[in-house]
Amino acid sequence: MTSYETTQLVRNLPKTVPFIGPEVQERARNRPFSARMGANENVFGPSPKAISAITRVAGESWMYGDSEAHELRQMLGQHNGVSLENIMVGGGIDELLGYTVRIFVENGDVVVTSLGAYPTLNYHVVGYGGHLVFVPYSNDHEDIECLVDVACTHNAKLIYLSNPDNPMGTWWSSSVIERMIDRIPKGMMLLLDEAYHEFAPAGTVPDVDISNTRVLRFRTFSKAYGLAGIRIGYIIGEQGLIGEFDKVRNHFGVGRLAQEAALSALLDKEHLRLVVGKVEEARQRITRISLENGLSVIDSAANFVAIDCGSDSSFAKMVLTELINQDIFVRMPSVAPLNRCIRISVGLDSDLDLLSKALPKALNIARGS
Ligand SMILES: *Cc1c(COP(=O)(O)O)cnc(C)c1O
Repeated sequence: MTSYETTQLVRNLPKTVPFIGPEVQERARNRPFSARMGANENVFGPSPKAISAITRVAGESWMYGDSEAHELRQMLGQHNGVSLENIMVGGGIDELLGYTVRIFVENGDVVVTSLGAYPTLNYHVVGYGGHLVFVPYSNDHEDIECLVDVACTHNAKLIYLSNPDNPMGTWWSSSVIERMIDRIPKGMMLLLDEAYHEFAPAGTVPDVDISNTRVLRFRTFSKAYGLAGIRIGYIIGEQGLIGEFDKVRNHFGVGRLAQEAALSALLDKEHLRLVVGKVEEARQRITRISLENGLSVIDSAANFVAIDCGSDSSFAKMVLTELINQDIFVRMPSVAPLNRCIRISVGLDSDLDLLSKALPKALNIARGS
């Protein structure tokens, strides 16, 4: 018998860790990675202006950050053509998804997502007693029509879609997303995760009426802005909806350094442009490396590429394991048929040099066994 008593909900939760972090893996392996291409981080780093902002305010770290993140929300409003009342800032999309589920989901409420999609939402849904319903991918894309159909059938509270998608990198055009939003009935809400939208081609980001209470959009500074380690992201939504977050959020949860870094990063449009260009080049190089090894890739609008290993999941798993054995941190999708692929995040030239040496060896070993 333990001397404490958790809630019944927690008692019944599985011991899930959505992602095993690279540091955790390094400790388990007792060896460091030499290339870090598994977590879709931005290897090119944050804007130098964000770095100087962090340095500049480091000495002010004894003060909590602005609990309303006023200046940052004002700039984010301007940046997105909405007002600051339409912006909620939090410790990354992951935290904001947690608040969202807490606000909208109670015992048994249904949330619809794609089978094998970005899993953090699922973790929160289970943690708040919600019920997940999964829709399979179709041709490596999240299946928009089917997501809405299934959500309607189950009277779901929330639908989750990431555009561009993680882990496949596929995307839908803005008009498809706009039509999807038009189909969402009263009482249901689309959580549109746009973590990678900066990398996507023009015509990917939908035009959403800010007074529409059937959609919340999630953005982050972790990917294109290269600030994953500082934990900051935001939601765009109708003012009343955004106000609901004030009832549950950690009001001093976004630190001073994070707010200042995000503000400076947002203003440095030139750095963002540079990063997007480098990401595009690296994606092309990953594609070339794959083709040289007789593998195909899934066309990607994000900062990673899913490589189709051309066989089943156990083959892909072996390739992945052999890359990890050669000290290259990569990941792979979790379910069939996506898990015939491995997912390579964009790396520096030196990282991709290592990949181009390691991949043929990994394939040889996988093919030999
Ligand atoms: C990386 C990623 C996130 C995580 O964002 P944070 O702001 O770092 O929490 C959210 N959604 C998707 C689809 C991602 O790939």
